[in-house]
Amino acid sequence: RRAAEVAGWRGPGRTADGRSVAVLANVADGVSARAAVGHPVEGVGLFRTELAFLDRAQAPSVEEQTSLYREVIDAFGDRKVVIRTLDAGSDKPLGFVAQPAEANPALGVRGNRIVVSHPDIRTAQLDAIAAAARESGTSPWVMAPMIAGPADAAEFAAEVRARGLVAGVMIEIPSAAILADAVLAEVDFVSIGTNDLTQYTMAADRMSAELAALTDPWQPAVLRLIEMIGSAGIRAEKPVGVCGEAAADPLLACVLVGMGVTSLSSAPAASAAVGARLAQVDLDQCRAAADAALASSDPVAARTAAAAVLDSGP
Ligand code: PEP
Ligand code: MG
Repeated sequence: RRAAEVAGWRGPGRTADGRSVAVLANVADGVSARAAVGHPVEGVGLFRTELAFLDRAQAPSVEEQTSLYREVIDAFGDRKVVIRTLDAGSDKPLGFVAQPAEANPALGVRGNRIVVSHPDIRTAQLDAIAAAARESGTSPWVMAPMIAGPADAAEFAAEVRARGLVAGVMIEIPSAAILADAVLAEVDFVSIGTNDLTQYTMAADRMSAELAALTDPWQPAVLRLIEMIGSAGIRAEKPVGVCGEAAADPLLACVLVGMGVTSLSSAPAASAAVGARLAQVDLDQCRAAADAALASSDPVAARTAAAAVLDSGP
């Protein structure tokens, strides 16, 4: 029965009692965006722009960037598209972003932090996004990766709003999660990057197979931080998305919704399973599952406790 429900799920995302939760796609370029349209997604929750430029020695021109961003925007028509500014460095080094030799690149100059040494790169990218928005007659949302707190968020938002665009930031560093109320005060929306948030909370490299038990987003300490961000979003009445792979886990997706998360973005192939699971539960059940997971002392217990609540039927 479940397999048929998943195959037949067409969206839009909502719980059994009607709470809307946008189910969105993570994409990297025009090709992946056009492929994502074939899945039951309501738009793009994370366009990882750096992935389109990984092989470049020279920075792409504003014109080239504009046409790339238009490809993704055009694939989704007037649906929501969230464009992330370059997340260069660490696991995604870019040839045209000269970086210092660092002993710990994941803790180094990556993501939005390159703006200090390379302000021109971000200026060109925001100009290209603004041009793509103008040409297409749409209003993409723009967010920055690797924001440490409200000061970073305010600086970024000023640049984005100066171009008439909607400004947000990723929350993927624990400091930004702890200060979520102050970060949300500076921006129009936030999106939680659970891959990095887990890595930095647990001090465990996301690429390490040996540490996979630590980099599990069901870790109660990570869930606690997500709950803090979700609650801050409810207080601020602003959208809180999740765009890490945690959003691809149907059970965890329900828990995230119970914590106040308003959209879920992941690999598009996961969208039908996530949407179908959400349609089977009501919001109170999601909240109860979140409470059960938060009260657990390890990730296996958290998952088991949440599953017991969610499998009991609305
Ligand atoms: C994340 O960190 O969860 C995220 C969505 O960004 P990336 O995986 O590209 O670092
Ligand atoms: Mg990240």
